[in-house]
Amino acid sequence: MGIEIWPIIKLALRKTVGEAAFTNWINPLELTSINASKANFVTPTKFIGDWVDRNYGDSIKFEFAKQGLDIERLVFSVNMEPKIAPTKKSSIKPESKNTKTGSTDLPGASLDPRYTFDNFVVGKPNELAHAAARRVSEGGDVSFNPLFLHGGVGLGKTHLMHAIAWEIKKRDPNARVLYLSAEQFMYRFVQALRFKDTISFKEMFRSVDVLMVDDVQFIAGKSSTQEEFFHTFNALIDQNKQVIISGDRAPVDMEQLEDRIKSRLQWGLVVDVHPTDYELRLGILQSKQESQARYNSTVEVSPGVLEFMAQRISSNVRVLEGALTRLYAFGSLVGRPVTLEMAQESLSDILRATDRKVTIDEIIRKVTDHYGVNLTDMLSARRTRSIARPRQVAMYLSKKLTSKSLPEIGRRFGKRDHTTVIHAVKKIEELQSIDNQIAKDIEVLRRMLEG
Ligand code: ADP
Ligand code: MG
Repeated sequence: MGIEIWPIIKLALRKTVGEAAFTNWINPLELTSINASKANFVTPTKFIGDWVDRNYGDSIKFEFAKQGLDIERLVFSVNMEPKIAPTKKSSIKPESKNTKTGSTDLPGASLDPRYTFDNFVVGKPNELAHAAARRVSEGGDVSFNPLFLHGGVGLGKTHLMHAIAWEIKKRDPNARVLYLSAEQFMYRFVQALRFKDTISFKEMFRSVDVLMVDDVQFIAGKSSTQEEFFHTFNALIDQNKQVIISGDRAPVDMEQLEDRIKSRLQWGLVVDVHPTDYELRLGILQSKQESQARYNSTVEVSPGVLEFMAQRISSNVRVLEGALTRLYAFGSLVGRPVTLEMAQESLSDILRATDRKVTIDEIIRKVTDHYGVNLTDMLSARRTRSIARPRQVAMYLSKKLTSKSLPEIGRRFGKRDHTTVIHAVKKIEELQSIDNQIAKDIEVLRRMLEG
């Protein structure tokens, strides 16, 4: 066994590291040989090699191990003549000039042809985000600037951003639309620093008509990238150019993001893409089924199966899509209509993962992290507000998210009485309706625990 397993490993990594990281870091790697326990790669730049080694080294070794190969070291050497994939304009060439002829010279990420408004199913949880995205894509007066979309993983943020880009390009093929992930932004920036080429970096970013930066949480805490992002952002907003940003949470909740950036991000419109509800999930499944049916016309899905999936599979649309794809693959293999029993059987791992039970320990851990209190204090008898409040939040969440009884919950919190738990639950319920901060905290924590 040797380098021929690299495509398999890449496929697995694509799932574990995510699309953006895969495109930036894993895909450019070429496995050239394996000897003893060393895997040798060629990379376009040394930076990529270092970055991959530091951040994805363990995942790569792990995937090798799963294929039965014990790799201890990853060795990266730089390819002197980088191969550039024809679909991506990914190299930032120091000599690249901006010629103001459409966006062909922009080094953004490629847009997924499936991520259009036509393919986006609208429901209550995403209707605001969808409406805002539509408005922005119509051009005209720049009314929401920036547009900030936030929400959990797999809820359609990237899809909406691509849809905006497609729409703008359709209306004006010469529009300079640049879409990229915050990770790519950082990568470009670091490259520019490395090649002492920050001037053209700045020029290029400031020359666009529309800038979209996906998953901005990635640069939170990375100070010089943040700084550069902030300047780019300001320059564009000042020129009345549309900026669209996405993040996994609202700007105010991004702890590591500088305050001035947080506040600037809130100047425009901040919209939340909420977790899907049953109706939206069913709508999405039906729409995806129609497109599946075009390729897999032989597969028949029995009535009730989609409803069952919408009921039982979590709010993350990517998971939902994966489940449907699997069902179709399964159906075409067995050559029979996909029944409810078959669906249960073939999706059992996904169903189990969604059923995942939240434990009190997890709740305590997340709550102490969130409020920055320590565990000993949390379980102690101390009643200072700064400790008592997080403790009540944790008790409240334990009651809401687990099936543990009040006395059991009390016991887990430093042997407290069940009446203390009742009091905590009441108190937090009361506070949630009058105290915005508490309501937000609960939402964030709930999402983290359930997601
Ligand atoms: P996010 O960027 O929020 O993590 P994505 O935009 O990548 O999520 O969406 C994950 C997958 O789910 C994509 O394949 C996307 O097409 C699909 N998806 C999400 N929301 C919808 C929707 N409302 N209608 C159709 N497909 C959706
Ligand atoms: Mg995304």
